Amino acid sequence: MAIATINPTTGVTEQTFEAHTDAEVEDRIAQAQSAYETLRQTSFAQRAGWMRRAADLLEEEVERLGRLITLEMGRPLAGARAEVLKSAKGLRFYADHAEEFLAPEPLADPSVVGASAAGTRYAPIGIVLAVMPWNYPLWQVLRFAGPALMAGNAGLLKHASNVPQSAIYLDTLFERAGFPAGAFRTLLIPASRVEGVLRDGRVKAATLTGSEPAGRSLAAIAGSEVKHVVLELGGSDPFIVMPSADLERAATVAVTARNQNNGQSCIAAKRFIVHADVYDEFTRLFAEQVAALTVGDPFDEGTDVGPIATQSGRDELEEQVADAVAKGAHLLTGGTVPERDGWFYEPTVLEGVTPEMRLYLEEAFGPVAAVYRAASREDALRLANGTTFGLSSAVWTRDEEEREWFIDRLDAGAVFVNGMTASYPELPFGGVKDSGVGRELAAAGIREFCNLKTVWEG
Ligand code: NAP
Repeated sequence: MAIATINPTTGVTEQTFEAHTDAEVEDRIAQAQSAYETLRQTSFAQRAGWMRRAADLLEEEVERLGRLITLEMGRPLAGARAEVLKSAKGLRFYADHAEEFLAPEPLADPSVVGASAAGTRYAPIGIVLAVMPWNYPLWQVLRFAGPALMAGNAGLLKHASNVPQSAIYLDTLFERAGFPAGAFRTLLIPASRVEGVLRDGRVKAATLTGSEPAGRSLAAIAGSEVKHVVLELGGSDPFIVMPSADLERAATVAVTARNQNNGQSCIAAKRFIVHADVYDEFTRLFAEQVAALTVGDPFDEGTDVGPIATQSGRDELEEQVADAVAKGAHLLTGGTVPERDGWFYEPTVLEGVTPEMRLYLEEAFGPVAAVYRAASREDALRLANGTTFGLSSAVWTRDEEEREWFIDRLDAGAVFVNGMTASYPELPFGGVKDSGVGRELAAAGIREFCNLKTVWEG
């Protein structure tokens, strides 16, 4: 894929970029290594000051950055601005809490291990390579970079090829905020050159947010190099609606949960599993509201759903829906490509999706919802857990016993009850099964890329 900004609203190539040469990549790795040597000697207070300044810069530049996100990947502008502000909040969270999350933990009674003092400390590990997707071009990167830099590590970013201007902005953000030059650097390289960087001895670990094939490929290389990885991969999250739910609220939240960010969120609810007793009512409310969404130019403030970020992404969605319809699924709304430039797809609701259809097992990365009828809570759980993914999940019920029953049994990295999945700096984020390994955010996120050093003193 060319490294280029291609406006998904028009299909016009705005700007293309040359990939960095091998010499430029080498120079950037060297800069990151030298910055790490400096950074690891700095105090939490020093790093927190720089991190707060980076948050200030994001806030000062919110309008320009919001417009850049909308231009490069088509997110409606209000959401794009919100992403910038959320990223600033995430950086401040780690400025405030990193020291506490990484505080030494002394053993209360060191005599049990025959020591005068013993315990653990968290130490930085060096350069971490981040391979990132385009769907939240700032937030995905900064939720890694905030904790990594606060821990004293350096970061190298290989961003998705369709968001190069976001990548270039991130290349200088931390240096402008005061961090040592090179503490965070962008590499403009295609996916095929990730392997060479990951095998470099100065690069100690990697994190990848993206598709399952990309995650598997990176993990295989890291495995052969004995390097730690965090993988945040795809999802096909269930959204379960039980008879005791507030149906109107559930339907309204379901519309946002599926269609936010033009339907291109890993944690979007993708499969709506509804108990038979409330199926007709919920499905009617849901499909009516999806049909009422405004599809249009993401720069217009009235737009709910903009284009799919890439032409191949839009084509894939079209093929998944066509496959389901050809095999007997029923369209409740949508299912068409609007007559206009750019890579739009109508928000769509389908029922009657069965295991022989691609949509049953694959992730739909766009505004396409499948509604399933469940005969009982056991049936709902079977459907919910019946994919290879396990990122997050949502369950709507006002029955306390039922709530606990689902929380215990859903195979997912998170369960949201009577709400939709979202990421918060305060809560760990990550999946099980093919949705990934490791956690981002909260204390767990900053500890992933640290050396948990055991210290024993005689
Ligand atoms: P993608 O194709 O996997 O791309 C993601 C990143 O990986 C890009 O930087 C891409 O570079 C790079 N890449 C692709 N193949 C690679 C390989 N073999 N080796 C090394 N790097 C490789 O994913 P996408 O389709 O753009 O993004 C959507 C996917 O991301 C969805 O599955 C979504 O669910 C997932 N996602 C997960 C989370 C989460 O937190 N779990 C969050 C957001 C998105 P190029 O652009 O140069 O190809």
